[in-house]
Amino acid sequence: MLQRIHTREIGEVEMSELKAATPAILTRGSLGHLIDGKWREPASGERIDTMNPATGEVLTTLARGNADDVDRAVRSARSAFEGPWSRFTPHQRQALLNKAHDLVEEHYDELALLESLDVGVPLSRARNSKGNILRTILFFASQTMNCAGQTLPNSIGGNYTTLTLKAPVGVVGGIIPWNGPLISQWWILGGALATGCTVVMKPAEDASLTTLRTAELLLEAGLPEGVVNVVTGLGSEAGAALAEHPDVDRIAFTGSTDTGRNIIRASAGNMKRLQLELGGKSPDIVFADADLDRAVPGAAMGVFANSGQVCFAGTRVFVERKIQNEFVSRIVDFGRTLKVGDPLDPDTDLGPLISQKQLDRVSGYVSVGDEQGADLVLGGRRMLGDVANGYFIEPTIFNNVSNDMTIAREEIFGPVVSIIPFDTADEALTLANDTQYGLGGAVWSRDIGTVNTMMHGIKSGTVWVNCYGIIDPSIGFGGYKHSGYGWKGGPQHVDGFLFQKSVYINGD
Ligand code: ADP
Repeated sequence: MLQRIHTREIGEVEMSELKAATPAILTRGSLGHLIDGKWREPASGERIDTMNPATGEVLTTLARGNADDVDRAVRSARSAFEGPWSRFTPHQRQALLNKAHDLVEEHYDELALLESLDVGVPLSRARNSKGNILRTILFFASQTMNCAGQTLPNSIGGNYTTLTLKAPVGVVGGIIPWNGPLISQWWILGGALATGCTVVMKPAEDASLTTLRTAELLLEAGLPEGVVNVVTGLGSEAGAALAEHPDVDRIAFTGSTDTGRNIIRASAGNMKRLQLELGGKSPDIVFADADLDRAVPGAAMGVFANSGQVCFAGTRVFVERKIQNEFVSRIVDFGRTLKVGDPLDPDTDLGPLISQKQLDRVSGYVSVGDEQGADLVLGGRRMLGDVANGYFIEPTIFNNVSNDMTIAREEIFGPVVSIIPFDTADEALTLANDTQYGLGGAVWSRDIGTVNTMMHGIKSGTVWVNCYGIIDPSIGFGGYKHSGYGWKGGPQHVDGFLFQKSVYINGD
């Protein structure tokens, strides 16, 4: 049994102390929606369980939101947008984001523990994400001053002055997945709060806790009631109602490509602005001249990190045939060193998958890989023993995959590497781009010519060179093809939360 320690006692503590704590939000019995600054019971009175994926035990129960709850939250967001929040100056919004940064920093260990219990991410990994999350909040705090229009020259003649103004788009619906809500919520909250928008968040039913807790911290930071609301529940109910709601101006969505299509359809009624970050099947191309001491762990963790539950995971590892045997033997050795198990154990590298559904899905793909003739050289089995009730699976590597096999075409969202050999750079590029997706991609080589060809040639929103998976909020990322549209991060991202208006002033 976990010893119960009140949230406020969780400061900067040792791992051993932290893993014995229970965040206060889990001691409240059941949770409501957070609407208009208050906890609200679900309109239907119905609840859903949320599980700890490492144990299969119920952590707490969440409100099962429906269209009435969403409508209530949108009305609250609209009235905050037109009311108190519209009077906040850019400086005040910046001060508020800075205060939110400080509170997240102060409560970071509690948030990391909550994320670990809810998502199954190793606690050490969640703690290591602190710098990234804090930098992301600070980036958006700096962007409150980046909502300016321009004074533009014109060719009208006479005494005309012409300029553009920017205005916040209004109420933003934020729909996020379960694989990393602690960071992914900030890509929505940050842009919305920097520009003066208000938000209704719909976190994933499997992992809503850090979103609810962050919204509480924002209230503590002084955010007016109704600026950030959280409605929990199922995607087909609360999520669909948010995507359809006629008074939501913009949807920012991260999740699967199929759900992205549903959101596009649902948003047509009132022409919502959309930013969609969807699935991926990213290529990671290793040339024979690469530094394998870096490329092997880099490519392995490009898939295994977060147990493969990362949209830009480099799941198709293209390896130059000359080094295929050496590369495969080294990546298998590396995979064997990874410790899969209790996320609260400081030595754990990989936690469980999020749910039984996800475990069945990943196991299904492992069987299909086998049936279609790929060589299973590592893992592939559900892990039993000490962790029998959690949704654990071994790090898995298939060798001699061909790019037309199902495991090389569909997003698995699990720790499954497909190694695909190639002979020439042209072939590697053709295969890399032979996919419906275009989110990430990488090249490992010491040759500047090869790097240059690949970085221009890979049709993805991000290309990493001799590294994998780095994201900086001031640069950002986005998708080609079925991986979505609308940039996340950088000044372009902030612009997506703004309308532009042109003004013609006749000075005569
Ligand atoms: P996954 O299959 O990985 O769970 P989804 O795209 O289904 O990914 O889920 C991402 C988010 O989208 C979650 O918050 C989920 O509840 C929500 N969602 C699922 N279906 C819909 C839908 N039809 N409309 C709006 N949101 C949805």
